Amino acid sequence: MELPTLSYRLIPQLAELGATASLTGVLPLTVLEKGALHLTLVDGIAYDLQLTNTGNGVLLVGVAHARATTECARCLEEALVEVQGDVECYFMLNPRDEELELIDEDMVMVGADGMVDLAPPILATIVFELPQVVLCREDCAGLCPVCGANRTTTECACADAPSTSGPFAALRDLL
Ligand SMILES: [Zn+2]
Ligand SMILES: [Zn+2]
Repeated sequence: MELPTLSYRLIPQLAELGATASLTGVLPLTVLEKGALHLTLVDGIAYDLQLTNTGNGVLLVGVAHARATTECARCLEEALVEVQGDVECYFMLNPRDEELELIDEDMVMVGADGMVDLAPPILATIVFELPQVVLCREDCAGLCPVCGANRTTTECACADAPSTSGPFAALRDLL
């Protein structure tokens, strides 16, 4: 999948201690993958962010929200999943040596040009909040293992008379 970028210039606007900025918008992403999950984003990833200079860096906090469709893990019909999560990231302006050792994925060095990419922390928030398994509805009954009917929307007779139809019944007759 191709990831969008959201370039933002921190310097000089946010060079002073206490300086703040906020921005809202939508990351134009259409496809998202997490493990075996393959999702189609309905209208990108919406974000609402605040940036604050806290001294040695700029703290990014905010929320990200997305709606996506994918196959229900039980019945294979379309399922809608809605995720929202907190975005947090720290952009270091003047790190001391001991701080450089602490740098991880939530801490990013700001380039000499004062530019940062806000898309990775937004994306990471949505990917983290995605469920492992998506169902069309919490009580989705899934597919009938005998006839393949969607048990949520169709009533098949298999549960009442499991030995009278389907490929396994034919096998049972042979035995
Ligand atoms: Zn389902
Ligand atoms: Zn059935």
